[in-house]
Amino acid sequence: MQFIFLGSPGAGKGTQASLLANRWQIPHISTGDILRAAIAGKTSLGIQARSHVEAGELVPDILIMALIRERFGEPDMKQGWILDGFPRTLTQAQALDELLAIVRQPYPQAIYFEVSTENLVTRMLGRGRQDDTEATIRRRLEIYQADTTPLIDFYEKRECLIKIDGNRSPDAVTQTLQESLLVHQSSHLVPV
Ligand code: AMP
Repeated sequence: MQFIFLGSPGAGKGTQASLLANRWQIPHISTGDILRAAIAGKTSLGIQARSHVEAGELVPDILIMALIRERFGEPDMKQGWILDGFPRTLTQAQALDELLAIVRQPYPQAIYFEVSTENLVTRMLGRGRQDDTEATIRRRLEIYQADTTPLIDFYEKRECLIKIDGNRSPDAVTQTLQESLLVHQSSHLVPV
């Protein structure tokens, strides 16, 4: 039950990750949520990350990897997890592989939520988050295209990528996601 949720900002992966993590009682690790909390709390991570997040740019890999390494040290990570918004660059994906080898955890299943650009912009403008101004939205989509889409290839080559059409309602996406996962790993999933 180790998952990476991939997709553009606004693809709905956070909503799906939260639902499934709750259902399976495993941690939902959203690097965006962790960074926003760190910025609000003015922690050292927050102070270093703030200007990047506000500009819609990626936070440097070194800061993100420190955050992830620390989170993997927590005892609740032993039974499974969903990573949401991480990895976002090939460097992060490779660093995650190295970390998983060190902590003796299996390679995750990657789920890619595909959503049209038109739907992405409408959704992001609608959620009213502080880092969702029109300019940052445009910037984040550009960065996603440049830095994060290569990960689709990376996980596809490893034959561990499931593609989900994320253009439909959250309920319809959840339904398809659960069906796909049951097909792929029916023996591991024990819904509560
Ligand atoms: P999200 O909520 O996942 O869209 O993330 C919000 C912002 O946090 C992004 O626009 C980035 O500035 C930053 N961020 C979140 N996750 C990462 C990551 N894995 N690598 C670099 N920056 C990140």
